[in-house]
Amino acid sequence: MTATLNRSDVERIVRQVLTTKLGPQRIKPNPLVVNVSARHVHLSQEHVEILFGKGAQLEPHKMLYQEGYFAAKQTVMVVGPRRRMLPEVRVLGPVRPSQVELAFTDAISLGIDAPVRISGDHRDTPGCVLVGPEGVVELQAGVIRAQRHVHMGPADLEYFRVKPGDKMDLRIVSPTCTTTLEDLVVRFEPKCRLEVHIDTDEGNACHLDAATHVELIQKQHEDCGCGCGGTGACKPH
Ligand SMILES: [Zn+2]
Repeated sequence: MTATLNRSDVERIVRQVLTTKLGPQRIKPNPLVVNVSARHVHLSQEHVEILFGKGAQLEPHKMLYQEGYFAAKQTVMVVGPRRRMLPEVRVLGPVRPSQVELAFTDAISLGIDAPVRISGDHRDTPGCVLVGPEGVVELQAGVIRAQRHVHMGPADLEYFRVKPGDKMDLRIVSPTCTTTLEDLVVRFEPKCRLEVHIDTDEGNACHLDAATHVELIQKQHEDCGCGCGGTGACKPH
């Protein structure tokens, strides 16, 4: 007697095999949002008051995707070493240690050699001059090109099986410009929304505006032979 399998039997068996091999199907906790972070400035309260006057506060102009963060109404002029300048660079709030985040194209036009850094890492970074309506600040350091990164909350770390500081790749499918950007740094905050930040150069290179699909891809680890298949899923985190 020959057993015949109908379609639903086949599907059930395939599901069983996959579940045994891969574990239960994992549900994506959050949609993946990819945003271009255009050039911007962060300012300390001290610098806000020098640039915009005593007692000045950053005023929200537009809320950002991450809760509590905003593009301020205020802009500053960023001046490079040979007096080349960008006239209206948006300030982002709330206040925090001053920092200027530029795309390479911006840095080149200012004549500044901006290193790629994680936000807040100002070791051996160049400075610049900031000009506001009420005053001038000379930054000794803090001009960077922000390293491409992905913000994650606890559910995202678990889903992607990564930990803060790990790297992931981002594939962007867009007509004639499909690109994989490698080595996005995973940045964690407990209340973060899942969001990739790339700069305008990166966003333009892959024509992000026309993208039909974006996907985070785990880095392939050396196959440790434990059966994880080089996904690194076996590593404790
Ligand atoms: Zn970011």
